[in-house]
Amino acid sequence: MRITLKDGSVKEYAEAKSAIEIARDLSEGLARAACAAKVDGEVKDLRTVLDRDCTLEILTAKDAEGGLSTLRHTASHVMAQAIKHLFPEAKLAIGPSIDSGFYYDIDFPEPITADDLPRIEEEMRKIVKEDLPVERFELPRAEALEFMKDEPYKVELITDLPEDAVISFYKQGDFTDLCAGPHLMSTKGVGKAYKLLNIAGAYWRGSEKNKMLTRIYATAFPTKDELDAYITRIEEAKKRDHRKLGRELDLFMLSDYGPGFPFFLPKGVILKNALMEHWRRVHKKAGYVEISTPIILNRVLWETSGHWDHYKEDMFTLSTEDGEFAIKPMNCPGSILVYQNEPRSYRDLPLRLAEPGIVHRNEKSGQLHGLMRVRCFTQDDAHIYITQDQIKDEVRRIVEIIDNMYKLFGFTYGVELSTRPEDSMGTDEEWAAAENGLREALEALGLPYTINEGDGAFYGPKIDFHLVDCLGRTWQCATIQLDFQLPQRFELEYKGEDGLKHRPIMIHRVVFGSIERFIGILIEHFAGAFPTWLAPVQVKVLPISDKFEAYAKQVEEALDAAGIRVESDLRSEKIGYKIRQAQLEKVPYMLVVGQKEEESGLVSVRSRFAGDEGQKSLEDFIAAIQEEIRTKVLRENVKEA
Ligand SMILES: [Zn+2]
Ligand SMILES: [Zn+2]
Repeated sequence: MRITLKDGSVKEYAEAKSAIEIARDLSEGLARAACAAKVDGEVKDLRTVLDRDCTLEILTAKDAEGGLSTLRHTASHVMAQAIKHLFPEAKLAIGPSIDSGFYYDIDFPEPITADDLPRIEEEMRKIVKEDLPVERFELPRAEALEFMKDEPYKVELITDLPEDAVISFYKQGDFTDLCAGPHLMSTKGVGKAYKLLNIAGAYWRGSEKNKMLTRIYATAFPTKDELDAYITRIEEAKKRDHRKLGRELDLFMLSDYGPGFPFFLPKGVILKNALMEHWRRVHKKAGYVEISTPIILNRVLWETSGHWDHYKEDMFTLSTEDGEFAIKPMNCPGSILVYQNEPRSYRDLPLRLAEPGIVHRNEKSGQLHGLMRVRCFTQDDAHIYITQDQIKDEVRRIVEIIDNMYKLFGFTYGVELSTRPEDSMGTDEEWAAAENGLREALEALGLPYTINEGDGAFYGPKIDFHLVDCLGRTWQCATIQLDFQLPQRFELEYKGEDGLKHRPIMIHRVVFGSIERFIGILIEHFAGAFPTWLAPVQVKVLPISDKFEAYAKQVEEALDAAGIRVESDLRSEKIGYKIRQAQLEKVPYMLVVGQKEEESGLVSVRSRFAGDEGQKSLEDFIAAIQEEIRTKVLRENVKEA
């Protein structure tokens, strides 16, 4: 048989060989590092016997998919084995690898706590050190059930397997688990860079009707450095949690009376308004007009749009004496009614109807998360009606808006182009024109992008933007979607240059996505220390004693008149305390005023960016901060001691 390796070279063998044997034949080092094998593009166990021509790639822990996931899954078996040693009565459910590590769901007779985790880690260390070979075997169904008779969750899993399924097990020392694999060759391969992170409740098979099990989250990496970097990152993320900072900085609140419906507090509203004021200026300049459409609209409209048939589960609906209505989960149908409000001609196109519209979606309560996953949010939406010739130019204009907006916050981003799925509507010509338009726009802008073949919506291709925050986490925010379907369903028309009626193409696009979620991302990205133009309070005036209250008020009024968001701290507290307080509130500028300042009309400036900036005349300070707000520069914060 001929085995084609990753570098294109070919190895020939007279008889069948397992992937690990071939790895050993290539090099001992490779065999030691091997985690799994990719055979004809499919991730397989190293024990897989190859007996015909194929391509083969040996995966190591450096390969996130297949390699690292196999290391982590073996670590999950080691964890389960350690738990069985320490808690012989514990029953095992499932223990997969996930993007950030792995977990195991376990039914403990007595609940365990985080204090038990170090002990489990200690036991894992022994098992890894023992270098137990991991062996795979298969059993017929009846024997498999008998073999697992003391593990009720495994019995249920086996029972649910299809009739012809291969039932495989992996054994290491005194521990055997029902498992499809793949796995490392021995427990030693797990190495030393793993950590049990936390405990959570998880329903068996994700259903509230079933028993709540204990889920132990853990992670593993090829090296200690990578593990340490990961732990630092999650600790930093915890400190930046937008729910915690949102409370500390008085930005928003949540209430059990409205699960998933965030309340914005005065400072949060100021932040949101500052963000949207900029958004409006940018869009006005780019030729958009803003509309506002109703939140509640008649069922017939949602039937025409297709939402009633395909999206009803996620919609809030209500009955009135005028019939059935739905609260809008999307802004598109409202925008379409505005388009249809008057006859349109080619001269009107592109018609750019912006709408920061509030939408409601009935997300499952278990999915809700602060501002990141909510039931009510504002989409910074716009629907653009264009001719086919206008695709490329219009997409280029949208990408420019997105690019400028993200740069403003210091975000980098990745771009994905998703093309025609198998089940789609529209003609071949329409799809080709649309996909080429998107591609040409990205290429004209020189933007690198990846292609998700066949991952577009059934109504048209799309471009998604994944922004990267300061912790290296990615968030899908902006999207540009071309749509052939809604214009057809609503029979949209415009009169062409030829005097005939034509159908426009519709673009759905957002820049922030959900404004609320974007604010959540900004809170975590900036750790609450927003750039001056966004900060709810931009300047805090701090008199050093009661005697200078009048001068502090005078400074405050001058700043307010100049359009700066300002507060004074007139409490009879020590100046050091007031400064500390303003620092905790992450206010960009503090103006300390006392005798000297009052006499000479000066202010002593302390900033988040440079610490003590010395004395300035009030006029100079106002001119400088106005310039900073106007240009929206990102100033680096001084590292806190
Ligand atoms: Zn397994
Ligand atoms: Zn839309």
